[in-house]
Amino acid sequence: MEIASLHEIFLRSKGVVTDTRKIEENNLFFALVGDHFNGNEFAVQAIEKGACFAVIDNANYHIGDRTILVQDSLKTLQELAKYHRQHLGLPILALTGSNGKTTTKELLNAVLSKKFKTVATTGNLNNHIGVPLTLLSMDQSTEFGVVEMGANHAKEIEFLCDIALPDYGYITNFGKAHLEGFGSLEGVIHAKSELYQHLIEHEKTIFYNLEDPIQKKKLMTHTKVYGFALTKHNPASDIKIELTQNHPFVSVHFNDTEIRTNLIGSYNFTNIAAAICVGSYFKIDEQDIKVAISNYTPSNNRSQIVEKGKVKIILDAYNANPSSVQAALNNFADLEQKNKAVILGDMLELGAEAATEHQNIVDQLSEHGIENAYLIGENFYKTKGSQLKFKNFEEFKEAFPRTLKKNKDDLFLIKGSRAMALERTLELF
Ligand code: ATP
Ligand code: MG
Repeated sequence: MEIASLHEIFLRSKGVVTDTRKIEENNLFFALVGDHFNGNEFAVQAIEKGACFAVIDNANYHIGDRTILVQDSLKTLQELAKYHRQHLGLPILALTGSNGKTTTKELLNAVLSKKFKTVATTGNLNNHIGVPLTLLSMDQSTEFGVVEMGANHAKEIEFLCDIALPDYGYITNFGKAHLEGFGSLEGVIHAKSELYQHLIEHEKTIFYNLEDPIQKKKLMTHTKVYGFALTKHNPASDIKIELTQNHPFVSVHFNDTEIRTNLIGSYNFTNIAAAICVGSYFKIDEQDIKVAISNYTPSNNRSQIVEKGKVKIILDAYNANPSSVQAALNNFADLEQKNKAVILGDMLELGAEAATEHQNIVDQLSEHGIENAYLIGENFYKTKGSQLKFKNFEEFKEAFPRTLKKNKDDLFLIKGSRAMALERTLELF
C-alpha cells in the first residue's frame, strides 16, 4: 500500500497503537516484532478489540480486508511518521544528549505550552519506535512539537532526524553514557552531533550552552545559534542565567526574574537554563516561564527527595553512567549536612571501560571525602577502596539495616543503573 493511502487511513483513525492491551475503538494497530513478542500474533485480537485496521508483516496472519500486509511494519511505521510530519507544517524542537534529556524535555514543554499547543514525547519514548509514535500523536491543531531522541549507537540520531525533520535542536551534554555502543567519549560526541549536522545542513536554529567547550567548538561556524551563558560576563550570550541557590533545590535568576525550582542537583541548572533560553527565544512572557519551571516536579526516581523519618534521601535511581554519577557526587559533596552517605549501584553498558570507570567513581568518593559509601554490584565489588561493597542487592539488603542503625547518617544519595532498581532500598529505611 502506498504511504499516502495509509496516511488517509491513519487520519481517519483514532491514532496508532502497537500494544493490543491499549487498543481503543478505531485505533490503527501496527504489529511490531520484538525480541520477546511478535505483534502479528495479536492482529486478530486488535481487530476484535475495535482497531480499524491492523498493519502486519507476516502473511500467515492475513485475515481479510481489515489487515494491511506490508514488508516491514516497523519501517512502514517510520515512513508513515515521516510522511505525516511533512504534512504537519509545525515547528519541531529535537533534543538529545547523554543525560538530562527527559528532564529538559519536560521543562521545555512546560515553558512552550504557555504559548503554544504542544505535543511532546511521552515519558522516555525516544527511540526508533517512540519518535515515530510521538510524531503520529501530533495533529493539525498542534502548534509545536518537542521530540526527545535517544541513542546508544552511531547513526541513530541521524536516522531519527530524517524522520522528525526538526527545525530547532538542543544537545543537553556529551557524557560517558552507553560507551558499549559508542566505543568512546569521542564516539558519543560524534553520534550526538548528528543532530547538529542535520540542523546545520538544513539551516535550522540550534540552542546551546556557551560554556560547554564541546558545544562551542562544534557550533563555531554556524550562524543560526541562540546561546545561554551561566555566568554574568559572557558577552557572546543571548541570555544570561545565574545559579543563585543550590541547597538542595536549584534556584536561578535571569533578567529580573528569580525562579525557585523543585529540582535537586546543580546539573539541573543547565537543564533549567535551556528551558529559559528557548522560552526567551520564542518570546514567552517571563512570568509564564517562571511559573512553568517552578511548578515542575520530577518523578520516576529522577532526583526526587524522599523523607523517611529523620532521614532525607535523594533518590536518583532512574539510571546512572559515569558522567551523571560524577555530577551527582559533585552536587552531593557540596551539600552542607554533616552525616552523609551514598548508596551506589553498578553503571551498566560500559563495555571495556567498566572496570576503569567504576574505579574512577570510587576514587572520586575519596576525593570528595565521602566516607560512608555502600557500593552494590559486580563491577563495584571489584574496585579498590575502603567502602562497604556488596556483590548484589540481596547481600546489601541483608547488611544495610544493621549499619543504618549504628551510623547516624541523615542524608543519603541513591544512584545506580536502571537494572539495579535501587529504589528497592527505600523499604530498608
Ligand atoms: P535516558 O537516556 O534514560 O532517556 P535522559 O537523558 O532522558 O535519560 P533524565 O531522565 O532527564 O535523562 O535524567 C536522568 C538522570 O540523569 C537524572 O536523574 C540525573 O541523575 C542525571 N542528569 C540529569 N541532567 C543531567 C545533566 N545535565 N548532566 C548530568 N547528569 C544529569
Ligand atoms: Mg529520557
